Amino acid sequence: MAKVLILGAGIAGHTAALITKRKLGNRHEVIVVSPNSNYQWVPSNIWVGMGLMKPSQVKFELAPVYKKLGIVYKQALAVSIHPEGDSSTKSGFVTIKYASDNKKDEVENVEFDFLINATGPKLNFAGTEGLGPDKFTSSVCTYQHAAHAWENLQKCFDKMEKGEKQQILIGTGHSLATCQGAAFEYSLNIAFEINKRKLNHLAEITWISNEYELGDFGMGGAYVKRGGYITPTKIFAESIFKEYNINWIVGAGVNKVEKGVVYYETLDGEYHTKEFDFAMLIPSFAGVGMKAFGKNEEDITSDLFVANGLMKVDADYSPKPYEDWCATDWPTIYKSPKYDNIYAAGIAFAPPHAISKPMKSKNGTAINPTAPRTGMPSGVIGRIVAENICDKIKTGTKDHKHKASMSKMGAACIISAGYGIRHGQAAVMTVYPIVPDWNKYPKWGRDIDYTVGEIGLAGHWMKLFMHYMFLYKAKALPFWWMIPE
Ligand SMILES: Cc1cc2nc3c(=O)[nH]c(=O)nc-3n(C[C@H](O)[C@H](O)[C@H](O)COP(=O)(O)OP(=O)(O)OC[C@H]3O[C@@H](n4cnc5c(N)ncnc54)[C@H](O)[C@@H]3O)c2cc1C
Repeated sequence: MAKVLILGAGIAGHTAALITKRKLGNRHEVIVVSPNSNYQWVPSNIWVGMGLMKPSQVKFELAPVYKKLGIVYKQALAVSIHPEGDSSTKSGFVTIKYASDNKKDEVENVEFDFLINATGPKLNFAGTEGLGPDKFTSSVCTYQHAAHAWENLQKCFDKMEKGEKQQILIGTGHSLATCQGAAFEYSLNIAFEINKRKLNHLAEITWISNEYELGDFGMGGAYVKRGGYITPTKIFAESIFKEYNINWIVGAGVNKVEKGVVYYETLDGEYHTKEFDFAMLIPSFAGVGMKAFGKNEEDITSDLFVANGLMKVDADYSPKPYEDWCATDWPTIYKSPKYDNIYAAGIAFAPPHAISKPMKSKNGTAINPTAPRTGMPSGVIGRIVAENICDKIKTGTKDHKHKASMSKMGAACIISAGYGIRHGQAAVMTVYPIVPDWNKYPKWGRDIDYTVGEIGLAGHWMKLFMHYMFLYKAKALPFWWMIPE
């Protein structure tokens, strides 16, 4: 019997767990370790942050689902990986620390034959002084944060209803943050709501971001087909912001927040401040901080992880100038270069480099988005890692038949821009591939037939449909496996 241990029950880890169990059945053991007792459909946190959904609508308890499927679930935090075990064990193990109240602080070593690290990001609020829901800004990165953001935003709306002007600031809270798409979506939803309440004259909404230009989204921007024309995402994003009455500051690295004021540096080397009544700023991402130890307890963390704690996989990490970046730098099977039975899926894997062009301010501060880490690739990577491991267990093969490079994979992003069955809106963007391949597509960097952008009511319906469809799938309800990632 083989033991497959999965760390993390987010989009990547939960997908991998469901697929592994379905393919292996009860002859092998699938174990999931994750500290939060709930699964959350993160993309819908935007609606929680607008008071349009309750946290209970975007999450569900993992334990009953895993019990039904025969997956062993440990509500705990993975602390360290021991790939070769120690003097007392034959196989590798992970040391976990329990998070559930009745076992709090208990420690256990969980052995594995195959390990999938799908622990997602550490939301690194500490990387920017004063950032985060415990300090002076809001966040929509988790359902708890989003519910708190809505409490703060409501206060703003109440003040506007009483005739008081309010300044709203949305964007990135660190010079190297990513996930611009989520912040973009939140800004459009706020603007839509303000317009609906006829409060435009009392609101100043500002977008602040480390992008060199609007519409970069951490993927170096894109050319999209829109209404039969080819449009750069810069124009696409600018026209949406104009329509929604949102101002923008780009090329900005936020470096400090105090009550009601953000400090930032721009690419021209100038230092500025921006006042706010409500701010939702995305933090930088890092790995969750697991350590790794060899057979004799020696620290081998740097063998498994890069400096920011994300896991090394089959990418080309050799430092090279932007001009030399290419599609083949990106990993295809997400296997540790050192250990054949350890993989990383979703945000937990270390990308070889950013996708957007690296930029430095005149003072030498790096100000650019790091590579975007969206849900669709996270789910697809979770699936192919699971499929390759199942092949290895069932047939003994060393090959990896299933591959999913972000330079060969498309992504669809539906950016909700207002809620409502009749009056809702969403911007739908598909890019193929995610990482531009200028050798294969010399004119546009991507396949222009599959790289499109449109905004309208149908997009809102799609976003809502996806909310219910992906939660249905995550609950492993009948025929869940027929729903793609
Ligand atoms: C507000 C918001 C909106 C978004 N909207 C979209 C969208 O519309 N479309 C899209 O494609 N993407 C979207 N994204 C991005 C998408 O949510 C992420 O790409 C996706 O969640 C990443 O999946 P993951 O499994 O790698 O990480 P996560 O979903 O973060 O899951 C990580 C898991 O690991 C667990 N974990 C953490 N530490 C440990 C540990 N030490 N040991 C064990 N387990 C651990 C966590 O509890 C969690 O279960 C959005 C993101 C945000 C924040």
